Amino acid sequence: MSHPNPASPSAASAAAPEAVKPSNFLRQIIENDLAAGTYASRRWGGSPGDAAHHAQGQPDPAKIRTRFPPEPNGYLHVGHAKSICLNFGLARDYGGVCHLRFDDTNPEKEDLEYVNSIRDAIHWLGFDWNGAHDAEPYQASDYFDFMYRAAEYLVQAGHAYVDEQTPDEMRANRGDFGKPGVDSPFRTRTPAENLARLREMRDGKLPDGAAVLRAKISMASPNINLRDPAIYRIKHAEHHNTGNKWCIYPMYTFAHPIEDALEQITHSICTLEFEDQRPFYDWLLERLCEGGLLAQPHPRQYEFARLNLTYVITSKRKLAHLVNDGHVAGWDDPRMPTIVGLRRRGYTPESIQLFAERIGVTKDYSWIDYSTLEGCLREDLDPKAARGMVVLDPVKLVITNWDTLHGKDALDDCAAPVHPHQPELGKRAFKFGKELWIERTDYEEVPPKGYHRLYPGNKVRLKYGHVIECKGAVKDANGHITEVHAELIPDTKSGTPGSDAVKVKGVITWVGVNDGVAAEVRLYDRLFTDPQPDAGGKDFLASLNPESLKTVSAYVEPALANCEADDKFQFERHGYFVADRKDHAPGKPVFNRVTGLKDSWGK
Ligand code: ATP
Ligand code: MG
Repeated sequence: MSHPNPASPSAASAAAPEAVKPSNFLRQIIENDLAAGTYASRRWGGSPGDAAHHAQGQPDPAKIRTRFPPEPNGYLHVGHAKSICLNFGLARDYGGVCHLRFDDTNPEKEDLEYVNSIRDAIHWLGFDWNGAHDAEPYQASDYFDFMYRAAEYLVQAGHAYVDEQTPDEMRANRGDFGKPGVDSPFRTRTPAENLARLREMRDGKLPDGAAVLRAKISMASPNINLRDPAIYRIKHAEHHNTGNKWCIYPMYTFAHPIEDALEQITHSICTLEFEDQRPFYDWLLERLCEGGLLAQPHPRQYEFARLNLTYVITSKRKLAHLVNDGHVAGWDDPRMPTIVGLRRRGYTPESIQLFAERIGVTKDYSWIDYSTLEGCLREDLDPKAARGMVVLDPVKLVITNWDTLHGKDALDDCAAPVHPHQPELGKRAFKFGKELWIERTDYEEVPPKGYHRLYPGNKVRLKYGHVIECKGAVKDANGHITEVHAELIPDTKSGTPGSDAVKVKGVITWVGVNDGVAAEVRLYDRLFTDPQPDAGGKDFLASLNPESLKTVSAYVEPALANCEADDKFQFERHGYFVADRKDHAPGKPVFNRVTGLKDSWGK
């Protein structure tokens, strides 16, 4: 059961999951915009660009444009997956295009490892960016020339000034929630003076921190973000894309709206922390549209609540800490909430898309229960995962009357459906013989109340095989059980006439000693014992679950041993498992537990 990469070779993104999509406030906004023709007049110059570039283009074939703008400074996690499914999903559903833009305006070493992992993660989730399957992502640093032009325009139009207060003075003069700010003594410089000084900043005449370019809005605004925010700073640093061309770099709050506008984004969707930035977003784009630099109508920003998932942390910094300190085996450790980790754990793109649809988008902070994510995975895997029998904690069962009934080395062919509800998937074959592996917990010398499995004198069915009657067990000197003994009841083989004449209350799974294959099985559990490991500044390391990984030597039925890496199964009675994408090899099986059969998180 391998899952082919669902990215289609065409320009379109993968088909939407079948389920009817619940509406949400963003869908409402888009539907209203489409009905009102808000963006109908937009043109598209074929690539990002200024007003003139788009004016000579065609009417935009994309009805809406959204974007996903990661900083390439870490691996994407389940929170990013929500944002990806949202932005790419809205574009797909409304005849639009979603852009992938690397937000690389900070002059820091670009890590190709992160860039590539982000591209892979989005393709794996089933989406294509920028309107084609193999399009190159956009890069914010490609817009530096325009951003500088915009800065000069603001200066010339009297909307920006070079401030040379010290950082401390600037901070003190900003005021706070109850106290209006104080104008900088540099605020009254003329446009000509500001322009000359800005060019000196650009030309490297000033050291880092000596001056900043600030928008000139209002130091009395109740919104602190409008109190003449800094838009350019001096930083003598090399940039991976532009080299040493620049020693001044735009601030995020200035760069981001411009990036959106150059790309003709219609709906710029971000998390709620940016709500207070929206007035500046609009102020800036209005000024640049007035100046004729940017095409109208300009993009609009909408905010939604970021994903908080119980038992999970999603800060890149804290995830890096887990990796760097060796608490997990890397970014793709199956316990990590990164997309590579979820993938290796056995999550499917379909299950993550389903999860994103199910949790929806709101403007209220809330915690989503981890069981919701697991539920989506079970829902996706149950109808398609092949079944198999596996013994995770093996003890040998010996059929003491086998020699008399069948002959010592005789083997009896057994069969079971690959999937109970999909007969077209065929049957799997394995052999019953004198010696079988069963779960150690399926035998009790003295059965607790309600125990229906093996204990002396009790009968159980070995699934897809025969009914047996337990005769006891053999122990070593330490009292440790080494063998369980039972006798086979003749004429009880599953699927043969009259096989159910002997009634039993217990059915147990097993694997033949003769044809079972030894496998390493990694039993993963939640990484933290605290449902909100880092809430309120808590030390998340304090609640690391010491039992988040238990590796066992198991036996698997022959059909499982030769599967391909990434193949997913339901191990009967045990849950969903995946052949590990790094360590599994056909014949040398390694499986990861994805999740149990039922929700156990509440307990
Ligand atoms: P961090 O703060 O851990 O570095 P980030 O949010 O700064 O993460 P970016 O690379 O800037 O990471 O994120 C890219 C996009 O993903 C942003 O648009 C952001 O809103 C979105 N995003 C990040 N985390 C979440 C989350 N937990 N839920 C929903 N969206 C998220
Ligand atoms: Mg960020």
